[in-house]
Amino acid sequence: MDRDGGVSAPAPSLWRDRNFLTMWGGQALSQFGAQIVELALPVLAVLLLHATEAQVGYLNAAAMAAFLVVGLPAGAWIDRMRKRHVMIWADAVRALALAAVPARDAAARRSRLLGAERLPPARRPVAVGAVLVRTTGWLPARIVAVRPTTSHARILTLDVPGWPGNDPGQHLVIRLTAEDGYQAERSYSIASSGPGKRVELAVDTVPDGEVSPFLVEIAEVGDALEVKGPLGAYFVWHETDSDPVQLIAGGSGIVPLLAMARAHDRSGSTTPFRLLYSVRSAADALYRDEILDLGRHSLDLTWAYTRSAPEGWPDPVGRLTPERVAAATWSPAQHPLTFICGPTRFVEAAADAMVAAGHDPARVRTERFGG
Ligand SMILES: Cc1cc2nc3c(=O)[nH]c(=O)nc-3n(C[C@H](O)[C@H](O)[C@H](O)COP(=O)(O)OP(=O)(O)OC[C@H]3O[C@@H](n4cnc5c(N)ncnc54)[C@H](O)[C@@H]3O)c2cc1C
Repeated sequence: MDRDGGVSAPAPSLWRDRNFLTMWGGQALSQFGAQIVELALPVLAVLLLHATEAQVGYLNAAAMAAFLVVGLPAGAWIDRMRKRHVMIWADAVRALALAAVPARDAAARRSRLLGAERLPPARRPVAVGAVLVRTTGWLPARIVAVRPTTSHARILTLDVPGWPGNDPGQHLVIRLTAEDGYQAERSYSIASSGPGKRVELAVDTVPDGEVSPFLVEIAEVGDALEVKGPLGAYFVWHETDSDPVQLIAGGSGIVPLLAMARAHDRSGSTTPFRLLYSVRSAADALYRDEILDLGRHSLDLTWAYTRSAPEGWPDPVGRLTPERVAAATWSPAQHPLTFICGPTRFVEAAADAMVAAGHDPARVRTERFGG
């Protein structure tokens, strides 16, 4: 009954009011999203970015600070505006900002370099999906060719836009970045030299190593990585040098020395070049066919086998001795420039042998690969 004693019509239900339903639906959706964000952002920060407890605390504090710093003055200002428009715009901007997170993640996955599905779990930290990260000094590179050179070593050709070219003997650093941010960097000598953006490397597997088994067994054409270089100005041969050159390589230490022998052959230089290459067996020699070929034109070549030699091999099998080094290298009287490269102990033994034979230590240049 109303005051006049008439019967009033029941108030229309809010659930039939289109404006109310729109606002209710919009607010419910907005609050649902806000609650997910409240829960999801710290979880993402911890799981993907490995944020510490303190960093998660700062993240939450930053969210509260926005209310205090922006919310109060903005409230007074917004009071003069049409509320509906403000609410719609604020929610739309918030939705766009949040959508940027999965969109950015999807883009990163698309640019993934070293597909996780091809990686054995033991090596996931390095190669779970290295992503391209541009940093000053680092150049993006892509593998354009791979071929085996022994059963445990592989030649990789990289395309490196922006590569400035390199001298024979220089090296570069490779960087792999996993999706979780873990990075691994290793140095590799460059088998190629001269101008151009193609760079050739040869990587030998170090058993139980982190990066070399990945590069030898898993990396594929099309995979991308980063490189920094060329590096090293000391362990370099220049075509203008006319002194005889003595190269002494152990295992994968042949790579920078091959770059020098190739450059020497290519230039038609008459500088005498000599190589003493120590390997476990003929099958373990990197670039064996090419080295044999160079040995027929421009290189005085001596093989030293430490485990097994081809049948009928006249020389002893075993580690290099000072006597064997002296017999297979230029004499000090010829004043050669010597380059020695390989595992650390090999390099030290060979350098000691050269100095003991009477070579000027300042003319004996070394590059240690580790081990
Ligand atoms: C200037 C420079 C140039 C190099 N050029 C080449 C190259 O052209 N080709 C190439 O195959 N390697 C090269 N190396 C070695 C390369 O940088 C890595 O050390 C090698 O690939 C092993 O890396 P990894 O991650 O597989 O092993 P890691 O996980 O780093 O090491 C695993 C284990 O192997 C030992 N180890 C590391 N390196 C060697 C090694 N070289 N020999 C024996 N044991 C080792 C470590 O002490 C460790 O115990 C170069 C190194 C330097 C410093």
